[in-house]
Amino acid sequence: MTNVAQMPTSATGDVKYKRVLLKLSGEALMGDRDYGLDPQTVERVATEIKDVVAEGVEVCVVIGGGNIFRGVSGAAKGMDRSTADYMGMLATVINALAMQNALEKVGVQTRVQSAIPMSSVCEPYIRRRAIRHMEKGRVVIFGAGTGNPFFTTDSAAALRASEMQCNALIKGTKVDGVYDADPVKVPEAKRYDKLTYMDVLAQDLQVMDTSAISLARQSQIPILVFSIFNHGAFAEVVQGKGLFTLISD
Ligand code: UDP
Repeated sequence: MTNVAQMPTSATGDVKYKRVLLKLSGEALMGDRDYGLDPQTVERVATEIKDVVAEGVEVCVVIGGGNIFRGVSGAAKGMDRSTADYMGMLATVINALAMQNALEKVGVQTRVQSAIPMSSVCEPYIRRRAIRHMEKGRVVIFGAGTGNPFFTTDSAAALRASEMQCNALIKGTKVDGVYDADPVKVPEAKRYDKLTYMDVLAQDLQVMDTSAISLARQSQIPILVFSIFNHGAFAEVVQGKGLFTLISD
């Protein structure tokens, strides 16, 4: 069977990863706010994505929903967990539409595909169609996580990256890699340049949840953790340059 990720693309220059999945938490789009979306932050992230698309890299995106609603918080307040998780998944679709809007404003063609079909709003998730969109240079934004409660958008990111046969799962965070403690709270926290999947699992490093790490390991997709707040960092990371932590075998 042809490995789609090895098929020729229009990628140019020093691009190391030809097809990537960018995972952003909902909080990455919140700016300085306590809740919801900060339009300027969304626009800024959109231009970072645009620069990577301009290099000929095929990009798909999974965005979380924690800036709007998290299932566990709802469940903690007495809601049925599955219902709360479905609300969380709908929150990710709101974020996906906001990112679609911002990307199209800067001239990037996009499609949103939702794991929970909502035909008036976006396409349903169809794997082969998503691959075709990326081959045509469109950014595909995957909404509604995996479509299943009791999962997270980290797992959705590892799942879609595996299905899309991405060359890398790139996680944009507030900091420039993985640390052994929160560097915002612990200034002497140690930063890692490289880790194995097993290091992350065994040391319980808070990078992505364990099911996401396990799936990335099984699919042999490297995870690169970088700061989405450093201007130009995403474009550097797809070239294997700049500051990031690489998680692989
Ligand atoms: N969610 C879910 N299944 C999925 C993905 C997400 O039930 O496959 C729900 C879950 O309630 C979660 C919420 O959507 O709390 C928002 O996703 P997540 O917490 O992963 O967002 P992030 O922390 O990345 O912003």
